[in-house]
This record gives sequence, C-alpha cells and structure tokens, in this order.
Amino acid sequence: MTPQNIFAEQREFFLSEQTKPLKFRIKQLKKLKKTLLDNEKYLYEAIYKDFGKSKFETYATELSLIYSELNIAIKKLSKWMKPKKKRTNLANLPGKSYIIPEPLGVSLVIGAWNYPYQLSLIPVISAIAAGNTVIVKPSELSKNSSAVMAKILNRKFIPEILYVTEGGVKETQDLLKLNFDKIFFTGSVPVGKIIYKEAAKNLTPVTLELGGKSPTFVLKGANIKMTAKRIVWGKFLNAGQTCVATDYVLVDKSIETELLKEIKKQINIQFPSMEILPENYVQIINERNFDRLLKLIKPKQIYIGGTFDKSKRIIHPTVLHNISFDDSVMDDEIFGPILPVIPFENLENAIQKVKERPKPLALYIFASDKKLIKKIHSKISFGGGAVNDTVMQLTNGNLPFGGAGTSGTGNYHAYAGFQAFSHFKSILKKPFWFEPSLKYAPYSNKKMKWLKRLIE
Ligand code: NAD
Repeated sequence: MTPQNIFAEQREFFLSEQTKPLKFRIKQLKKLKKTLLDNEKYLYEAIYKDFGKSKFETYATELSLIYSELNIAIKKLSKWMKPKKKRTNLANLPGKSYIIPEPLGVSLVIGAWNYPYQLSLIPVISAIAAGNTVIVKPSELSKNSSAVMAKILNRKFIPEILYVTEGGVKETQDLLKLNFDKIFFTGSVPVGKIIYKEAAKNLTPVTLELGGKSPTFVLKGANIKMTAKRIVWGKFLNAGQTCVATDYVLVDKSIETELLKEIKKQINIQFPSMEILPENYVQIINERNFDRLLKLIKPKQIYIGGTFDKSKRIIHPTVLHNISFDDSVMDDEIFGPILPVIPFENLENAIQKVKERPKPLALYIFASDKKLIKKIHSKISFGGGAVNDTVMQLTNGNLPFGGAGTSGTGNYHAYAGFQAFSHFKSILKKPFWFEPSLKYAPYSNKKMKWLKRLIE
C-alpha cells in the first residue's frame, strides 16, 4: 500500500467518527505502550546500530519520555476532552460560554534523527489522544530506528489509525502534496521553511519544532562545580546532538578560568577513559556531520578534547576557549560535542549579542541573583529553558515545549500536545427567556448612551 492510499483510508476512517470516543483513544494509547514495552529489545538494538547508543541512554532520553507521555495522556485524557467553561461577558448574560475540543483529522508527523523514537512518537501520542489519525515519517538518517518503528507499529496497528512510512526527501515531499489536516515537523530551520510553504498551499496548520544556537549564561554567584557538572551532562548527552543542548557558554570573565577547570574535571569524571567511552558515548550520526563538526575545531582554541576516532564516528568531548562571536563555530547550530566558551565583561553587552541573533530554542542561566535572572528572562525571547540546570525542563510534561521565532512555531508535550492536534470550538449558549432590546433597531441616543455605559 502506498502512503497515498493510506492517507485516503485514514481520511475515510476519520470521517466515520470512530477515532473520537474516549474509549477508542485510550485503547490505542495503551496498545502503543504495550507494543513498545514488548519490543524494547528491538528498539535498543536498532538505535545501537544507528549511533552506538547505550541501553541506559536510550531508556533515559527516549523510552522513559515516551512512557511518561503515554501515562499522562491515559490518565488525563477524559479531563482534556471535556468542554471547558469560559466567563461570559456582560452583553451576553445570562448566557453560558464554553469551548469544545475536536480532532483536526488526518495528521502527518515528520521526525528528526537525533532522538528518533521520542521525536516521532510523542507527537503521535498527542495526535491519537486528540482523536486524529496519523501517518508518521521518521528520519531516514537513523534508518535502523525508523525501520524498527515501521516494523513493530505497522504490525500492531491498522493503517487507518497509525502508519509509519519510511523515506527521505523525495518521499516526504510526496507526502506534503496530500491535503493533511495537521503537519507536525521536527527538524532544521531550512527544512522547516519548506514544510511551512508546502502546508500553506492547503492552509494546513503546522507545528514546527526547529533548532538554533542555545546559549548558557554563567554569572558570578553560581555554584561553579554544580554548574559545570550540569552543563557537561546536558552538552555531551547524545554527543551534543540534542536540539536543546547548550550550544555555547557565556561566562562572566572573572569566573571563566574556574569554570573551564571545573568543566575539564567533570568531563574526566563523567567520561573517565577513552576505552569506556563507547559504552557511555554516542557516535555522530553520519560522516557528513562528522566532517562538518571537525571543521569547527580550530587547534589553537582547544581547551580540552579535539581528539576523535573516524572509524567509529566518535568526537571526544571538546571545549573551545578564546572564542568570540565572530568565530565560524558561532555561525550555525553546532549539534555535536563541541562547546565554545565566551567570556563577557558586561552582561548587558552579552544579552545584546544574543538578542541580535535568531531566537534560541533554549536558554539556560546559572546564577543566584534573582534580579539578573529576571533581567535575562525579560530581555531575551527564546523557546524555553532552565535556571541552574540544562535540558531537564523537557522532562516535565507540565511545561509546554516549543521554540520562538525561527526556533519553532507551536508547542507540544502532554496537554500542549493535545492542544496542538485539536481545534477548540467556541460556543455561546443563550436562553430564550431574556433579550434586552438594546442591540435592535430602531437605534436612539438613549440606546447609544446605554451601549457606551456597558462598554466603557
Ligand atoms: P532535517 O530538517 O534535515 O530533517 C528532518 C526531517 O525532514 C526528516 O524526516 C527528513 O527526511 C525531512 N526532510 C529533510 N529534507 C527535506 C526536504 N528538502 N523536504 C522535505 N522533507 C525533508 O533535520 P535533522 O537533521 O533530522 O535534525 C536536526 C535539526 O533538527 C537540528 O536543527 C535540531 O536542532 C532540530 N531539532 C529540533 C528539535 C525540537 O524539538 N525543536 C528536536 C530535534 C532536532
């Protein structure tokens, strides 16, 4: 069956109303959880083939997030689906106001390769929870992970509800020609623009989860040891191939040396020897990215690392110093295990430098001065972030996840995901027994006076 046929079948199935009842949605979500639990072994094997990722890291950064998302959706769905009361304005009293969520229809999820399971399946959970059917196209770069998802999910789900289709640029572009009711895309900014343009042809609503350079501020007063520990963890997780990883550090010049020393210590603690690296450390996804990353490492700027093993596509944790905003490493999102550290003497100037660039997906601040934290939060626009930690914000399902400006449009995770795949019908309900004559012609000065009094 071609994706085009499946699209037509999903449309028919959606129009049959079968995806709408709570019971149906819960059944699919539970089935998804069981299918993943029953096939974990294959999921671990496939991702290991794609980038040597350990079982622990796969569970911690992929499966655990999917299971939490499923648990939240299963628990909260009946509440999410209920109509929600809204306040009624004076002019419409004694009426009632409420909103009713409804599914959008047939949806398309396009995933990125860096967390192939969660970036494809968390939006799928949102789509099903909201009562949609869904075709999901994971990334061709993580080909083993994509293939295993197709194999295990297409065996368990009828294609009218959920179908995984594999393929690259050509296949994705063919899919984009279909008149989907929702497109959810995770990936790069340039491809995000292509998706937006294609979606516009059918006025299809989109959620775009994109990328960019995410800064981490380190200010005087931060606990430097803990700061270094948390930066190193978030940066070298998945070998830096994380959309919300620290892209670069902006540190107060007076604590730069101390921070660099602690970062070095932490790298040696968290990745104690090159021999055990493969157990704890992920490969770069492909040679093209490997070569791109190596070009960003200028020998004179290496503080620690800079070493690599091309046969295994591994670049050891690398920290660069003596960096300025003009260096090529500051041009585009790094998306690898290279951490440039830039000192600043004046916080205002550092804030200004970030503001001059596209809005980051994430922003982190390590500090204890509440006023300075507030200042950075109010002056810089960005998707989301953390204070005194990195990356962990996305494990809290109560926080909507998404970008701002070029780092993304729309949010998801838990209720925000349900909202992304729903339309909310606004309803005003009036009784028959009361109707003031004010709005009806013939108009008069007296009516005008009353209208103004009500409004002003
Ligand atoms: P990508 O944009 O190259 O690919 C993403 C998807 O788009 C893939 O499924 C691919 O097949 C498809 N695609 C690629 N080129 C296409 C084209 N010309 N037309 C139609 N479809 C096309 O992104 P990537 O390399 O997989 O992921 C890395 C990027 O994704 C980084 O910028 C990263 O920051 C971002 N990202 C963002 C998030 C987030 O949640 N905001 C999460 C992970 C990754």
